[in-house]
Amino acid sequence: MSETTNTTTRIAFLGLGHMGEPMAENLVKAGYDVIGFDVVPTALEAARAAGIPCADSALEAVAGADVVLTMFPSGRHLLEAYRGSTGLLAAAASDTMFLDCSTIDVAQAREAAELALSAGHRSADAPVSGGVVGAEAGTLTFMIGAEEKDMDQLNELLGAMGKRLVHCGSHGSGQAAKICNNMLLGISMIGAAEAFVLGEKLGLTHQALYDVISTASGQCWSVTTNCPVPGPVPASPANRDYVPGFAGALMAKDLGLALNALRDSGVAAELGPLAERIYRDFAAGEGAGRDFSGIITEIRNRSAG
Ligand code: NAD
Repeated sequence: MSETTNTTTRIAFLGLGHMGEPMAENLVKAGYDVIGFDVVPTALEAARAAGIPCADSALEAVAGADVVLTMFPSGRHLLEAYRGSTGLLAAAASDTMFLDCSTIDVAQAREAAELALSAGHRSADAPVSGGVVGAEAGTLTFMIGAEEKDMDQLNELLGAMGKRLVHCGSHGSGQAAKICNNMLLGISMIGAAEAFVLGEKLGLTHQALYDVISTASGQCWSVTTNCPVPGPVPASPANRDYVPGFAGALMAKDLGLALNALRDSGVAAELGPLAERIYRDFAAGEGAGRDFSGIITEIRNRSAG
């Protein structure tokens, strides 16, 4: 996209937290006319200090915006911000693109899209993976739920913050893809951790078991990239006392969203709900701030004696 086009696209960026702030910075660097806002004054100050022009209220940010990009903690925050005569949807000029990059419930994402469309706007959900490191580096993966006609605009915009953009289908499909993936990730990490603890009990070295699994049919990202034991994969969080990475609290959140979707859609799943319970317990303690691969410590502790 040419810089001339970027500067004519005005983006209200709401939610300048751990992810939103570096994402907004990358949009500014790409030449977009960004105006940010966060309800927390310290987040607003940090964003201003990082060179992101900010408004004093959400409505001021939204006035005159072509795109309203949200990066909120939950679907409740999003729906509350959208609704009502003083909400974002009422404040925006018609045909504004409401682009939500938060990770939220599939049902809430669909509801948000319906609200936006019935208020005369356009809508897309584009949750991310890649964490704060990916947000800072502009290498996020975006899973996009949007109408085909909006994809050119979205690809240009999201390309300034990410390197992999996948159009998953219509409204809500981005969130759907994200929670399906993360449910599988949670299950596979528990499986990998149990395999390594079993290997320890059976007298295998971590390296020997890694050498087999990483080239055999048990191979998965939870072993080859985010290996829950230190040693075989030097970059995995296990080598730095499980500093995240992907925090247990976020895995617990995403599995909670997967659980809602499993219930709503009547899937007879057993492992997804079990993984949700395991990570909910993990995140209730110090696991909240540790990498989710630290679940192996819990399994090892429970296996002692
Ligand atoms: P965060 O809590 O750091 O940031 C969210 C920000 O939204 C906060 O600063 C909050 O004050 C602000 N906010 C809430 N309501 C608002 C409103 N009405 N108007 C303006 N600002 C408002 O969270 P985060 O870590 O940046 O994550 C954001 C989203 O991205 C979440 O949905 C999370 O699940 C998802 N996500 C996070 C990561 C990660 O590694 N942190 C990775 C992938 C996805």
